Amino acid sequence: MTQAETVLSVEGLFAQTASGPRLLGSSCARCKSAYFPRSESCHNPDCSDPEMQDAQFGPYGRLWSVTTQGYQPPAPVITQEPYSPYAVGFIDLDDQPLRVVSRLRTDSPDEVKVGCRVKLVLAPLGLDDEGREVVSWQFEPMENDE
Ligand SMILES: [Zn+2]
Repeated sequence: MTQAETVLSVEGLFAQTASGPRLLGSSCARCKSAYFPRSESCHNPDCSDPEMQDAQFGPYGRLWSVTTQGYQPPAPVITQEPYSPYAVGFIDLDDQPLRVVSRLRTDSPDEVKVGCRVKLVLAPLGLDDEGREVVSWQFEPMENDE
C-alpha cells in the first residue's frame, strides 16, 4: 500500500513555514491594515496612497465564537467518512486585529469554550474525489489556555 497523496484545500491561503503554519494575507505598508485572505487594495477610507504587501499571520489567537456543524455539508466541502460533527469558530488573532473563521481541530466539538486559546495547525479534512488527503488550516484549542 502506498501513502496517499496530500494536497492543500486551497492554494495561497496558508502555508507551512519554518516557524510553523501561517495564514497568508496582506498588510498595508501605509496604514498597517491587515487582510485575510490577501487583498490587492487597502479598504481603509482614510488611507492615502496604499501600498499592499504580502504578510503571514498567526499562529495564536482566542476563540470569539463557536458552533457545531451538526449535519454533513454538501460538496465541495470535504469531510471525513463516516461524517462526524465538527466545530467551526471565529478566532481573534493575537498578532493582528483580524477575526478569521476556521474549522476547529478537536475530538469534542460540543465542549469547546468561547474565550479559549487556540493555535493554528495544518490537519487533514478528508479525501477528495481522487482519493487524495486534503489538508487545510484549522485552529486547535490549547491545553494550557491562558
Ligand atoms: Zn492602507
